[in-house]
Amino acid sequence: MSRFLSRALAGLKPYVPGEQPQDKKYIKLNTNESPYPPAKGVAEATYGQAEKLNLYSDPDCLLIKRAAAAVCGLGTGNVSVGNGSDEVLAHIFRAFLQDTGVAFPDVTYGFYPVLCSLLGIKYKTVPLRGDFSIDVSDYEGIDSAVCIANPNAQTGVYLAPEKVEELVLQNRGRLVIVDEAYIDFGGSSAVPLVKKYDNLIVVQTMSKSRSLAGARVGFAFASKQLISDIEAVRCSFNPYNVNRMSMYAAAMSLEQDEYFRSCVDKIVFARVYTATKLGKMGFEVLPSRANFLLARHSGVGGEELYEKLKERGILVRHFGDERIKDFVRVSVGTRAQMDEFLNAVQKILEERDAEG
Ligand code: PMP
Repeated sequence: MSRFLSRALAGLKPYVPGEQPQDKKYIKLNTNESPYPPAKGVAEATYGQAEKLNLYSDPDCLLIKRAAAAVCGLGTGNVSVGNGSDEVLAHIFRAFLQDTGVAFPDVTYGFYPVLCSLLGIKYKTVPLRGDFSIDVSDYEGIDSAVCIANPNAQTGVYLAPEKVEELVLQNRGRLVIVDEAYIDFGGSSAVPLVKKYDNLIVVQTMSKSRSLAGARVGFAFASKQLISDIEAVRCSFNPYNVNRMSMYAAAMSLEQDEYFRSCVDKIVFARVYTATKLGKMGFEVLPSRANFLLARHSGVGGEELYEKLKERGILVRHFGDERIKDFVRVSVGTRAQMDEFLNAVQKILEERDAEG
């Protein structure tokens, strides 16, 4: 820490992203990326814009707002675009949460508390139930905004749309943020509800189901009034926040519905396949509607399994948080990648049995 750092940031613990190793080739099942390449035409659209990099990108992000609004059945005035949904979340937190504070589950996306610390926002955590589900009645009468991920980050557990609506209804005087980074892998989106409720913001990303993690494009969907506040923050921070290559890549990708659906179908199939196999090996696997599985085995600790898989060239994610420290989180890759992962797990368990 330098002697110049703002005092307010002295204790800041930055978000620790999953490893992106550059040294050797791993089977990467640690950051919930898609194992499939971007849709056809995306690379060409990107190269085409690379020739125009002397020019700024469109600060209104109209091309991509139009494409996203069309997919969602909303108007462009209901959409804000960010450099990844992480940035969208930062705009939202900055715009709305300083006065009210925010509540989120004790097990969820680790970026929420980091953003709160960065922006001086008070937060409280609400424990998930014993089965790792969100019970919306736990948020009734809460005196702050609410932010949930659905399906929830790290667990994959999903909250049904009527429950999301209940959450929005019981907090009409407060903002409800629903982060749908993983919604395409088996959930029903709350986006249609933004036409009905002016206290709801839905956040989505192109990073997972659209195979564009490296392009960094995310969205907020909400009423025109909320979006205009978010846009004010965005333009006060970085009006050219989405670069022109990513903008065209994302717009091209949003047009390719068939490819998107085929990738999602393959991932969902591989998820069910992997969860079943892990169950047969004695793992407890949380019911996931996302592109990852959170699983634990009584015979091997989460950290140990992570280490042993890494030695075998397979990266998964381990979190030290008390409630999930026994688990590993495994992103769902291709069927072939999942078979390699399952074989490695089988061998690790056999070795342990032989030792013990
Ligand atoms: N929300 C959740 C729940 C996530 O897991 C992630 C991915 N780490 C994000 C948002 C951010 O994704 P991106 O910035 O790539 O859009």
